[in-house]
Amino acid sequence: MIQSKDIPIVKLDNINVDFYKGKGLLSKPRTFNALHKVDFSINQGEIVVVVGESGSGKTTMSNVIAGLVKPTDGTYEFNGHKSNSLTKEQALEYRNSIQIIQQDSYAALNPMRTMIKSLGDPMLIKKLADKINLSEKVREVLTTVELTPPDHYINKYPHQLSGGQRQRILIARALAMNPQLILADEPVSMIDVSLRVAILNLLARLNEDRGIAILYITHDLATARYVGKNGRIAVMYLGSIVETGNVIEVLADPKHPYLQALLSAVPIPDPRLSRSRNRQLITEEDLPSVSGMPTGCRYHTRCLYCKEICKTKQPIARQFGSSMVACHLAEELPKFELYESKAGNE
Ligand code: SF4
Repeated sequence: MIQSKDIPIVKLDNINVDFYKGKGLLSKPRTFNALHKVDFSINQGEIVVVVGESGSGKTTMSNVIAGLVKPTDGTYEFNGHKSNSLTKEQALEYRNSIQIIQQDSYAALNPMRTMIKSLGDPMLIKKLADKINLSEKVREVLTTVELTPPDHYINKYPHQLSGGQRQRILIARALAMNPQLILADEPVSMIDVSLRVAILNLLARLNEDRGIAILYITHDLATARYVGKNGRIAVMYLGSIVETGNVIEVLADPKHPYLQALLSAVPIPDPRLSRSRNRQLITEEDLPSVSGMPTGCRYHTRCLYCKEICKTKQPIARQFGSSMVACHLAEELPKFELYESKAGNE
């Protein structure tokens, strides 16, 4: 299939996902709305970071894109084709073109399989290699993810590798399928801090050198800024996207009160700066229960600036400079300052 640069690899349009929880001994059946009217797209060669707390819908959105969760409502397109009208050939290409890098590399790899089996079998099944060139192809992907010399790794089992090396194997497994898009769901949250930058640099290099689009999912704004410095950000809260735009611009001048609260909660190693920062940007620390979603703006139960309209009417995303912001009051809110003004005068 020929992919035009102007057509997004994936496009979600007004997607809703409801999860149903059946009746228990003491509980009634319930429905949880995990994604609410989500519009999202990612173009060829683009990096998009998706940030939000646990329960914000980041992984559900990624699973919809990967075809692992079927939306309750809304439409989904792959390379300009509606997902429910893909031919058999297009459906196969869709499955191969979108690859996932999981968070837990130990759980994602079969402990009974060596690396040549873990990496090679999918290549054989998808006919991307044959028995004659398989070993060479596996060595190639190991070299691409900087596991060199590849002969040192090819016959190892997962338990014989470090966390960082296993994470590189997951990236190699995704690369072996020649993907258009890699979904990286918290790929560095379970490895040593000292190894994180190397893995993030590897993802950025695959994006720059090979034009592979990356959807990087995280709750960590520092890594979001690092990975997405040339890309876009989508901030999610309770199943909705509340702010999107260029990563550097959005993080420098956040408009949505939720993103402002997230930024104000990032730890700073300098105690003097830390003392001077504005912390009171949220009224309630805990997320509302998913079984009782707030009406109107879903953030209104925690928002410092909430007005009556926020409790009844859901805000629609609107353009602010290069960003889209879903907040009724975005134009009248005070400009976000990470530090109290006296700090700047010292
Ligand atoms: Fe806060 Fe209202 Fe904006 Fe929601 S719409 S973020 S409650 S000001």
